[in-house]
Order: sequence, then C-alpha cells, then structure tokens
Amino acid sequence: MEKYRSFDEIQFALKNGESDCRSIVKYYLQNIQTKAHLNAFVEVFAQSALERAALVDEKISQGIAGKLAGMIVGIKDVLNYEGHPSTAGSNILKGYISQFTATAVQRLLNEDAIVIGRLNCDEFGMGSSNEHSAYGKVYQELDLTRVPGGSSGGSAVAVQANLCTVSLGSDTGGSVRQPAAFTGVVGMKPSYSRVSRWGLIAYASSFDTIGVFSSTVKDNALILEIIAGYDEKDSTSSKEEVKPYSKLDFPKRSLKIAVLKEALHAPALQPEIKRNTLEVIEKLKTEGYEVQEVDFPQLKYVLPTYYILTTAEASANLARFDGVKYGYRSPEAQNLEQLYKNSRSEGFGEEVKRRIMLGTFVLSASYYDAYFTKAQKVRRIIRDLTANLLTDFDYLLLPTTPTTAFKFGEHGGDPVAMYLEDLFTVQASVSGVPALSIPNGKDDSGMPIGLQVIANSFKEAELYAFGHYLSTLTLN
Ligand code: GLN
Repeated sequence: MEKYRSFDEIQFALKNGESDCRSIVKYYLQNIQTKAHLNAFVEVFAQSALERAALVDEKISQGIAGKLAGMIVGIKDVLNYEGHPSTAGSNILKGYISQFTATAVQRLLNEDAIVIGRLNCDEFGMGSSNEHSAYGKVYQELDLTRVPGGSSGGSAVAVQANLCTVSLGSDTGGSVRQPAAFTGVVGMKPSYSRVSRWGLIAYASSFDTIGVFSSTVKDNALILEIIAGYDEKDSTSSKEEVKPYSKLDFPKRSLKIAVLKEALHAPALQPEIKRNTLEVIEKLKTEGYEVQEVDFPQLKYVLPTYYILTTAEASANLARFDGVKYGYRSPEAQNLEQLYKNSRSEGFGEEVKRRIMLGTFVLSASYYDAYFTKAQKVRRIIRDLTANLLTDFDYLLLPTTPTTAFKFGEHGGDPVAMYLEDLFTVQASVSGVPALSIPNGKDDSGMPIGLQVIANSFKEAELYAFGHYLSTLTLN
C-alpha cells in the first residue's frame, strides 16, 4: 500500500484521527522489512521509535506536540545519536556508541520527529555509488543492477522506497544531490555553515554539510528550517537569520537564470539528460523568464580542486581513528606502532586508504605548495566567480549528474571515472553555496534524471521557492 508520501498526508491522517504515530511507525517498519533486500538501513531502531511514537501520541492528545509530530526520519550513519551506534559505514568504527546527539538530529527530536534508524552509506562519505560500505552495497529500487548513487545511498533509497518520510544525509561534494538524482527524489545541500556540523563525523570539514532527502520540496524545506541556524557547539555555524523556508514564497517577478554552457554541452552528458534539461529551459522561457547560457571555462578545474582539498582534509580528520580512542583495535599488534598501523590497515576500506594517502601526499612538505596551496587559490577564484555569477543571475541551472544511475561495478577498477560522476555537483561545494536537486523525468531505461538549481549563499528560501515552482514544469 502506497501511503504517506508527504508530511501533509501524515498530518491529515493524524488530525482526522485516521492514524496515530505508533501506527505510522509500524507502517514504515513493515515497509522496511518488506524491502530489506535494498540494504538501505544498517540498523532499524524499531524499539526506540515505537517508544517515542507512544510519547508523541500522548503529547498530541494533550495538544502539546512539536511541529514534526508524525515525521519519521532516517539518519545517515555519519550522524551521532546518543546511545545508538554510529559508524560512518566503516569497520573502524564498529562497536562505537554515540555519547551525544548531533545538533541537527537533536533539533528534529525537539520538534517530536521520530528517528527510525541509521542508513547505509559509502565509508566516511567517500564515494558516488554506495559500493564502498562495510555493510555492503545499497540497491536502487527501480533496477537492482544499478547503483543508488552515493555517498548517502541509503538515505536516498529510504525515501525512494518509502521507508521513512524524510532522511538526513551529508553532502561534501554531491552526496545528497547525486543520489537524489539517481533515485528520483528531492535532495538539498544547504550553504556551508547553514547547519551545525556538531555530531557529524567529519570527512572534509571546510566542505561538509548536512543535507535533506524528501519526496516533496515542501517537506525538505520544513526540515531544513528546523535544523538550520547558529549553534554554539560549532563555531563555524552561521548566525545568518533562518527564513521560513517552507512558506515557499515565490515572487512573480522577472528572474534571470544562467545555464552553464560547459555543463549543458559537456561531451560526457547523457543525451536524455540534455534533452530533459533543455525542455525545462524552453518552458521557463515560455513562462517569460530570462534564461541565458553563460561560459564558465573554469569548470574543468573544479573537480581536481575538490579532490586535492578534500583528501588533504580527510587525511587530517581521519588521523583520530588509530585503534586507541574509538572502535576497532587490531588484535595482532605487539607494540604501539604496530597497533596504529594494523588497526588502520585492517579497519579502513580501500577507497578511504587511497584518499588518506593522496591527502597525505598533497600535504607533504615537498608538494604542499604545488598542490595544496595552489588548490586553495583556485578554490578562491571559483568561489568568487560563482558568487559574481549569482549576483548577476538569480539562479544557476544545470543537470545534477552527467549520467543516470550506472551499473554496479561499472567504475570498479577506475577511481577517476567514479570521481567524474561528481563533475556538476562539486562547484556548489567548492563555493559553499546552496544547491537543490529535483527530479526531471527519466532516461530511456526508466532511470530518474535530476535537475540542479544553485543560488547564492544563504538564499535557501529563494532556492526552495523556485525549486517548488520548477517542479511544476519538470517532467515526471
Ligand atoms: N562523491 C564525492 C566524493 O566521493 C562526494 C562525497 C560526499 O559528498 N560526501 O568525495
């Protein structure tokens, strides 16, 4: 039975007395069980979710329930939730139990959302296919031979397959938007620093953001509105005002929209994605909006910049996993050095090790200036150019990904081919600006296509409003 595709539907059922939170949780638990083969969840919090549901039902009957009463949320396995394990999809954190709750999760709980489980992902958020997880791969519901995208593959499939109402993911270079595009759901990466990173297991701290998956733009906006905002526990979190995103106020005024030529005419772009993107552009023009193709020749530098800087940051962030403080400890070691070496060699997966080595290399004394310093300078240029473009134009429009969901193993032996999947998502990450992916029809094999809209920093309200409007023009 397909019900509860949106929070509006849940609230309607709760108000009418048609259902209560306990039944809603049971409904999702049933779905999770039926679709266990998708491997979206690494752990289901059945017991604690049902207990919380009973509490929320009690609050509803007293008229004191929070804004998210009835909202059932899945969280990516990179977010801490006190008393529950949190392992970043890695063997190195197996056995680690969170001592505290991430601010984003806490804010959802404060509004009476119910967390139903933790979701599978690429190890430490490193990957674009969810093939790099210690828990095995996640399956795309529409075609079990294809990837769901990554790294937040479990979070995307959980919404795609209706295993929860919304889910949290993290997006460092596309990990919310790319899997959202591959699975045909809505995915948002907010501005850098919009949501506190406290309690998020770090990958690359100057890029990491917590993002949201949902079936509708409105639910997505509602969740971001609640988790966004300053947090004294994360000194990088922004004090910028959080607007009522879920109002979706779309001013009927003239808008200028830029389309990146380098993306739209990229040789690597799958023809059906180009076709559907052009179709939306035509509709926007017909509606009277100014859509202009612009040059961004620097696009080719964005991906190398991203991979140099994120691997450098990752090599520093992941130094804390040494077999002493958290999780896995090698049983073989004879002395301290062996303990470090063995624990890290045995605990980390292949892709994570590759990135730690790459990051250590670009930070090494002889190569620091040639790679790390240079990449930081290029990042500044890209940020400035992107911000300027988003001053001249209201929005930037481009496909979310160059291809639709590819087959498992397709990029198996070639990490660079996998990195190329991030071609269109990393610009917003390098620049720190918000970006939203919405479904835009399907390709000839029936795989979903994503359309990405980017706005200037802290323009989430405008981005959601436009995204909501755009979803009336996109193909379904
Ligand atoms: N696929 C990109 C990477 O592997 C993005 C990952 C992410 O956003 N966490 O780095």
